[in-house]
Amino acid sequence: MFGYTVFHKDIMNSLIDTVRRGKSANAYIFEGDAGLAVNDAAELFAKSLMCMEQESAPCGSCATCEAFSSRADPDLVYVRRPKDKATIGVDAARKAMIEAMSRPLYSKRRVFIFDEGDMLTAEAQNVMLKVLEEPPEYAVFIIVCNNGDNILQTVRSRSVVIEFPPVSDDIVREYIEEKYPDNKDTEFLVSFCAGIPMTADAMIAREDLEALREETLNIIPRFLSANKVYAYDAAAFFEKNKDNAEEICDMLLMYLRDALVTSLCGGDIVNIDKAEKIGLIASSYTPSVIAAGADEVMMMKKMLQKHIKPSVAALHAALKI
Ligand SMILES: [Zn+2]
Repeated sequence: MFGYTVFHKDIMNSLIDTVRRGKSANAYIFEGDAGLAVNDAAELFAKSLMCMEQESAPCGSCATCEAFSSRADPDLVYVRRPKDKATIGVDAARKAMIEAMSRPLYSKRRVFIFDEGDMLTAEAQNVMLKVLEEPPEYAVFIIVCNNGDNILQTVRSRSVVIEFPPVSDDIVREYIEEKYPDNKDTEFLVSFCAGIPMTADAMIAREDLEALREETLNIIPRFLSANKVYAYDAAAFFEKNKDNAEEICDMLLMYLRDALVTSLCGGDIVNIDKAEKIGLIASSYTPSVIAAGADEVMMMKKMLQKHIKPSVAALHAALKI
């Protein structure tokens, strides 16, 4: 839509509709995973706000729309983290607020996109508050966040909060099929993405994806074995692949789910290309052992999120199953 990656057509259509009806607000918080192209959504919305043809915004042909496409419009301001800083602090916020006092040069509005809103410090947000309380009618602020936890309640209450939730498998599939028509792992990727389509980009970019899938499948018997000596192999595998530990957990969960499906009802599995080995797992272990394996991998994911070493978490999981 309009040259942008849009996964939430309904949300964008209704936002653009508010612009066309002259009902848009001055401050927005766009919340959603980075793999949902929320930054693209913010740009598309900015383009609509700035377009000179309100009723058909973004018309695509007015001077503003054309300048926008070449990223040359001075009325679109990105407020970003300085390269040498971990956060967006008071200085950057103050500079943007001063800029917001100037009228747009060429466009209908001046739009400020904070595309790393999670990096805004509380002090920076406090600087913005005064302007957000009484914004100039031509200024619009769009704060893009992954989770928005750091956004102050005072800023939140002065903004229209738009949530971008994970999308359906059909939308993920459509994205993958269109972008990677030759890909053979589409069904695996659709499940793996869990509603976040652009997760597929990172996975496909990995040259070792197939090898990692195979190795992960091969480690399952080590996890499930009653002989706990093998638990150390599982730990060693995670030590070797510690940078991909969470991805491996997701793969393990999908394999174990497939093994359960095969064992209990013979229904459709996600990893169709691995059906033979999955069948072997299904026939070698009882459903309750496989289910216990899945529980422990879930527990392991939680441990990883608490920054526990992957090899320690894996050993813990394999010893408990
Ligand atoms: Zn236009």
